[in-house]
Formats: sequence, structure tokens, C-alpha cells
Amino acid sequence: MNYFSTRGSGPVSLPVALVEGLAPDGGLYLPESLPSIDLPPSGPLADVGAAVLGAFLPPNATGWVRQALAIDTPLVPLGDDDHLLDLTRGPTAAFKDMGARFLAEALAALAPAPGDRRRTVLVATSGDTGGAVAAAFHGRRGLRVVVLFPADGVSERQRRQFTTLGQGVTALGVDGPFDACQRLVKEALSDRELVDRHLLTSANSINIGRLLPQATWFVKALADLEGRTPTFVVPSGNLGHLTAGLLAARMLGSSARFVGAVNDNDAFARWVEGREPDGGAATVATPSSAMDVGRPSNLERVAALTASDESLRARLSAERVNAEETLAEMARRHRDDGRFVDPHTAVGLVALRRLRGRGVTGPVVVLSTADAGKFPATVTAATGAEPPVPASLAGLEGRSERWRPMAADLESLRTHLDEAGA
Ligand SMILES: *Cc1c(COP(=O)(O)O)cnc(C)c1O
Repeated sequence: MNYFSTRGSGPVSLPVALVEGLAPDGGLYLPESLPSIDLPPSGPLADVGAAVLGAFLPPNATGWVRQALAIDTPLVPLGDDDHLLDLTRGPTAAFKDMGARFLAEALAALAPAPGDRRRTVLVATSGDTGGAVAAAFHGRRGLRVVVLFPADGVSERQRRQFTTLGQGVTALGVDGPFDACQRLVKEALSDRELVDRHLLTSANSINIGRLLPQATWFVKALADLEGRTPTFVVPSGNLGHLTAGLLAARMLGSSARFVGAVNDNDAFARWVEGREPDGGAATVATPSSAMDVGRPSNLERVAALTASDESLRARLSAERVNAEETLAEMARRHRDDGRFVDPHTAVGLVALRRLRGRGVTGPVVVLSTADAGKFPATVTAATGAEPPVPASLAGLEGRSERWRPMAADLESLRTHLDEAGA
């Protein structure tokens, strides 16, 4: 299987696409063609994942694929054919764990650094990615991770997930929003000299190695629904998760519908409506901060996938959910069924409520993207009660943090990479 950039360059092999992250022409890699697959039997994600990803990987990859995806992703019934796809059971209690683990294994197995050098994995985070990537990569030989985060834009508990690990994890607090962090990663990856000096690669969802594994749980959910055709509601920011869902539907020939649920950062909704994505869209801070993305990278992939597939385009829609609705949904779920939901999943649940209000029938699957305990301040403010800390995150408060502030420009990043490069 080869990969082409959304802007036309290629073909390249999977190891090259994994290492480059961003294609040299500034586009994002997609598989040259998608294999047609049959709906596998319902079963653990590791089994379904190995079956789905087999077509993309060498035959001897099955062992590490199964290991990366050995995380439970149950479909939780909410009644009335409403379902939550619970993706919060990984090491940092967010769906990004699975993709990060897969990418770490894939780089080690398919693209090891030459000689005794090591690769530098750059990652911009609006909250969850940094923790998931740091947990998946830290302590691995031949790899180090540099996390760029908005110094003022992540919760303390999120920050502690990548500032307390050490062992090959460097954290840089950028003076700017997430979009500035994302732009810096792209600039660094486009700088040949910097790339060669540090063997730079990216662990953001621009990397095809994050996307492929995310397709697996859409397939698993379809198998769990025994072939019934659902509407998937995907709480979206950078649109990597939604893109993976579209890949899954294309491979299965499923006519599932997809709703991208966004917060006030609504570039995707504007695109669906055929309007301009709003030039320099400034990022708006919301309670669902991991979705505060003004310019979603993967919109380019969504556009490419749907350009060649009218029917898929027609099954794709958007819902905008504001902060007030999000917090009200969190309060209501807690009051009515004692359930804590995180602010991102809550955006999806508001979208679900609207769909039902408009008479949408059949199964609706809301992707539950993080555990409520990762966002104690927001959840407590919304519900008046404190959510339990996920077991995997307990004890972070007691550890010492290490991170450095950084200006939002490439020269500063260059200096920090060299300093941390020893
Ligand atoms: C990253 C993230 C999202 C958005 O996913 P995208 O692939 O960026 O659209 C939603 N919820 C949570 C909790 C996240 O961490």
C-alpha cells in the first residue's frame, strides 16, 4: 500500500509517510486506495484492529498491533438506541492513547532511527495529545518526545501528564494558542536542515500513523451493532477522529452517517455549509478545550475523501454546540443518571439530543473521547460534584514538573531542540 499527499505528491511507502508526518508539499498523506473489507465478527479491539489493519501492514506486524490496541472500547447503551462508544480506558483516559501507542510501535518496528541516533517526535497539544504521546513514547530507545503546548491553555492535570515523566520527554509551554503550536510543528517539519539534524517527525493527527488505528473502533462498533447502520457523532477539533471514521465507512462500504460536533471553533461547520472557513479564524477558548482548533489540519483530508465520493459527502453533517449548552448537558446527565461526562463528550451528547429532537431514528453512537476526571474544574463547576480521578492518573499531583516557556516562533524552537538534543 502506498500513500499520496492531499496536494498530489507521492507515492511513498508507509515508513516514509510515518517519518515525514507532513508531506513535502505541505499536504497530508492518505492511502492510495482503500481495501474493501468485510465486517469482522464482534470481538475485542485487538482482534478487530488486527483484521482491519492487516491490509496496510506487513504480516509480521500482528503482534505489536494487538499490543497497541489491547484496550477495551465497549459500546455503552444509554437507552432508546443511544450509545456511547467508551474510548476512555487507555493509560491517559482519552481516545488518543490508542493512536499514540500504535504510532510508537509502528515507528519502532517499521522506521527505526539509523545507527545509534534517535528520532525526535514533535507533538503540539491542546491538552490530551501531549499526555497520550508522552505516555506511549517515554522511555523508548531511539525516540525522544518534544511536547509543544499553549502555556495558558491546558488544565493542570493535563499538563502534569507530560511534565512529570522525564525520560526522553521535553515539554515547552508556548506563548500562544494551540494553533501557534500546530503551526510551529509544521514549520519545523518543513525545514530540511532541522529535520535532518534531529530526525524530526510528528505525532499529531497529521501523521497517518495516528489515523489508521482510529478507524478500528468505528469498525468494532459497527460489528457490535450487528450490521445495523448508525449515525456516528464525533466530538471534533482537528478532525483526525472524524477522518478515521470516514476511512472505516469507505472500507466497509457502510452507509453510516457522520456528524462532526464542534464547539464555537466552527471551521468544519462552515465548510459543511459551503462557506469560507473564515480566513485567519482566531481560536476561541471553550470548556471543550481539546477541540479549540481554529484551522483543523484534517479538513484537507475530509475534503479529499469526500471530493471523490458524493454519497459520503451527503452523509456528513455538522452541529455547533456552545459553552452554555455543553455545561447544561453535563449537569443534566449527572442529575438524571449520576453519570459524569467530560466536556468534549458532552458536545456530542448535545448533538445527539438535537438529532433525536429532529426525528432521527436508528442507532446513534456518540464517541466518548475522554474521562470526566481529566477535567475536574470544568466538571465540578457544571455538576456541583467532583468526578473521580481515573486510576491511571492518580498520583500526578505529588510529582515534580519540568517544563520551559517558549516564544511562538521557529527560532526559539530551534534553540530549544538543540539544547535538549544532547
Ligand atoms: C483531540 C480530542 C478531540 C478532538 O479530536 P480530533 O481528532 O482533533 O477532531 C475530542 N475530544 C478529546 C477529549 C480530545 O482529546
